[in-house]
Formats: sequence, structure tokens, C-alpha cells
Amino acid sequence: MALRGHQIRLLSKTAKLHCLLRVNGVNNFSSNTHVGPSAAVEKNPTGKISKASQKDTENYKYFDCVYVGGGIVGLASAYTAMRKFPFLESCVLEKEDKLAAHQSGNNSGVIHAGIYYVPGSLKAKLCVEGLRLAYEYCDANNVPYKKCGKLIVATQPDELPRLANLHERGLKNDVPDLKLIENEEGIREIEPNCRGLKALHSPHTGIVDWAEVSRSYGKNFEKSGGKIFLNHEVTGFRESGMTDDDFPVEISLKSQPYKIRTRYVITCTGLQSDKVAALSGGTPHPKIVPFRGEYLLLKKEKSDLVRGNIYPVPDPKFPFLGVHFTPRMNGDVWLGPNAVLAFKREGYKLFDFSLKEFSEAAAYSGLRKLVFKNVSYAFGELYRGVFISAQVKQLQRFVPELQLSDVTKGPAGVRAQALAPDGSLVDDFVFDSGTGSLSSRMLHVRNAPSPAATSSLAIARMVTDRASTLFDWKSYQ
Ligand SMILES: Cc1cc2nc3c(=O)[nH]c(=O)nc-3n(C[C@H](O)[C@H](O)[C@H](O)COP(=O)(O)OP(=O)(O)OC[C@H]3O[C@@H](n4cnc5c(N)ncnc54)[C@H](O)[C@@H]3O)c2cc1C
Repeated sequence: MALRGHQIRLLSKTAKLHCLLRVNGVNNFSSNTHVGPSAAVEKNPTGKISKASQKDTENYKYFDCVYVGGGIVGLASAYTAMRKFPFLESCVLEKEDKLAAHQSGNNSGVIHAGIYYVPGSLKAKLCVEGLRLAYEYCDANNVPYKKCGKLIVATQPDELPRLANLHERGLKNDVPDLKLIENEEGIREIEPNCRGLKALHSPHTGIVDWAEVSRSYGKNFEKSGGKIFLNHEVTGFRESGMTDDDFPVEISLKSQPYKIRTRYVITCTGLQSDKVAALSGGTPHPKIVPFRGEYLLLKKEKSDLVRGNIYPVPDPKFPFLGVHFTPRMNGDVWLGPNAVLAFKREGYKLFDFSLKEFSEAAAYSGLRKLVFKNVSYAFGELYRGVFISAQVKQLQRFVPELQLSDVTKGPAGVRAQALAPDGSLVDDFVFDSGTGSLSSRMLHVRNAPSPAATSSLAIARMVTDRASTLFDWKSYQ
């Protein structure tokens, strides 16, 4: 059911009225006088309109906007939209029994400063803006973080030109107070146990628990009236078939006795984003390929080996930043991660395997091309995943004091890597509205590339702007 121009205008008027009522603190809603999208205002001479939720029945819950995915991008987007368009009754649907169960709760926990990204690119702008917004948010909401800084260290002469390029990029990206450290003495003043030829120092890079930030966005969303439903896995979108009202999208859920009807849907489903987009006719590409990143854990008594983050100079052929030393908010130090193709999208262990997902991935020409182009790299990463000593050897380039006996196997995260059919890694944001009659009501965030945790509030602003244009929310104000 496509919405016609006059319907949108009338819907806007309805919402405007709704907004005014809320702003004035007059909760003058009647449960029996819900006004639909068209002819709504005319049909209701009392001026009373009902909220979406007042239509709830045993079989259906009603919302103006539904966010699918309780990771940091979905939660930041829901929270941001709620602040800008408080009259929208919104909810977040998350399939797991907790928020931030996947990428947002299993990552390095770094607040990136925006050094790596192509100057002028969206990724660069969103990261630099995201860093500023993340610190402001954490300060305002008592979320603890540490600005422990970061060194990107060149240990080999052939890395020096790449380090110089990164310096130039960082300056063009306005990374605050970025400084080139010209010799080992300078490096050791910042990190006494680190060795190297030259380094870049970013004092404003920090660490935070991104799962805690996600939960905080969720809490603020709920405080503003939003609802969060855990254990709510979305399995389908279809037309509600309602002719007298404007909740055209019906969402089916796994293991829930009711369905959800809504005006608008925004999906931010990370590792499942291609599959969820396909539920409303999204394009088959890009596909998501899962890369597992395994960490090592530095033993407690050795955690003073590093003060802040120590990173290698990344290899530009790969999207990952390379194994690094990262202090955690609880005092631990994580080393890694490597990047190994996973045989299951949400498979956190080496032998996690899904025949269905593996067969789908193996049948994808893009993946076959990627593997073919990077066979030696892939085997190297797998080898380092199995043999800890190989990973420790890599890390000893930076901190020679590190010994095999200082580390144990640590946790793992799985990255949603979007892959094009030609085998190239998709580095851009990808939005999709699907096809068919519901496409004017859907916005799928198909790819929100890393560091999407750092950039979450900036991405959320972009998603909200896009939704308000696509769904004409601006005229509600
Ligand atoms: C190993 C690793 C290290 C990283 N390090 C950093 C870092 O240091 N700093 C940084 O800024 N970024 C880092 N990142 C990137 C960052 O973690 C991600 O970009 C970000 O968390 C993505 O958030 P998201 O909300 O898009 O995805 P997710 O956190 O994966 O959230 C998607 C959610 O959607 C839910 N979902 C999926 N399908 C459905 C469905 N059908 N119904 C309902 N719910 C559904 C999932 O359960 C999940 O909770 C790292 C990533 C990885 C993997």
C-alpha cells in the first residue's frame, strides 16, 4: 500500500496535532477516537487523537516506528529520533535476551579518532564527529571512559611511508592533537615498553565499554517513552491489509503470540542485515560475510606492560586494523584481534559451524573471489588463530618483553563485513528500502562500517535525517 501525497499531508497534520498535545502536556487522548491517516483530522471535530498504542489488542501491538536490532546503531538511532520527533511512538525489537549481544558487545572497546579513513569520506567525517559526540554523551550520562591515547607504531623501514600517509590523512581529517613521534625515545616516553622507529600519537583516542554505551542509549530511549522488546526476532514483513487506518506494515515475530503493526520500519541488524532486508524485497547485494576476530588476554600481573592502545601500521589491502594492544575499562588488556572467515554468522568459537550459512556463503561468487585473492593472508590469520605463539611473535615487534606465558586465550567478536559480487569489501554505508508496496515505509541500514560504535551518534543523526526525508517526518514538526 503506497502512501499518496494527500495522505502523507493529512498524516502529517495528525502527527502535528499529536505533537502539540504532548508538548503542552495535555494528554487528551481517547481510546475510542483513533484517527487514521486520511480524513483523520476532519472526522474528529473534538480534536482528540489517540496514540498508536491505544489500538493495541491481544493479537497486535501498534507503533509509529519500529527499529529492528538492539545493537549500538539501532539503539542510537532510536534514541536520536526520539529526541527529535518525540511524538512518534517507537520501539526496538531485539532477537536476543539482552542488548548489544553481538558486534556492539564484543569489540575492542576503542573510541577511534578518525586517523585511517580517506579524507572527505563519510566514514572519516562520521568518526571524527562520532568521537566528539561519544565523549559529550558519556560525560552527560555518567558512562565511564578513559582517554588513554593511542600509538600507531612503525617497526620496519618499509612501514614509514605508510605511517607518513596516515599522518597526512589524520591531519586532513582534523584528528585533534595528532603528533608524529620521530624516534624510539619519544615512543618510550609515552609507552615505556614499546619499541619502534616512528609513531603517530593520538592523545584523544580512548576506551569505553560499548555495550554499556548501548544500554545507556536504550535507557534514555525508554525514559523518553520508547519501548524495548528482547527475545523478539523479526521473521517477516507484510502488508497489514488495514484499509481504514495507516499502519500498513505488519511484522511477524518468532515465538511471540502477537504481531506488530507500524507505520515505519528501520532495520539495523548487523550480521543479519542482508537477510532482514531480503524479508521486504531488499537487493541480494551486498552480502554479509562474518569475520571472527579472536583476542588474547594479558595475564593480570602483566597488565602494566602497556598504558594505552598500541596499533601496527595497517596493511591498506585489508579493512582490519591489525593485531593491537588494547586496555579495557576493567583493567584487563586484550591483544588482537586476528580476522578469520567464520563458518557461522554468530559463531564465536573456532569450531562453530552452520551448514546452511556455510553453504550459502560458499555459493556466493563474491566470497569465492575474495578467498582466491587472499589465500595466503587467510591461511596466515587462521594459523595465528590456532597457534598463539605466532600471534605473540607479531606482538613482540612492539613490546619485546611480552612472553608466550604472559597470555591466555581471550574472547572473540564477529564482524559483519559487507561483500560485493566482485569480491571487493564494501566500505560505504548501504541503505535499502526493499521493493514493493511497503518500500516507502522501510529503511534498511545494510552496512554501517566499522568503527560504527565510535560513530554511532553521528550515524544515528544521518539515519534520522534520511528517515525524516524518506518518511516526511519533518512536516510533523
Ligand atoms: C572484533 C571487533 C572489534 C571492533 N572494535 C571496534 C572498536 O574498537 N571501536 C569501534 O568503534 N568499533 C569497533 N568495531 C565495530 C563495531 O563494534 C560495530 O561496527 C558496531 O557494533 C555495529 O553495531 P550494529 O548495531 O550495526 O550491529 P550489532 O551490534 O551486531 O547489532 C545488530 C543487532 O540486530 C539484532 N538482530 C539481527 N537480526 C534480527 C532480527 N531478525 N530480529 C531482531 N533483532 C535482530 C542482533 O541480535 C544484534 O543485536 C569492532 C567490531 C568487531 C567485530
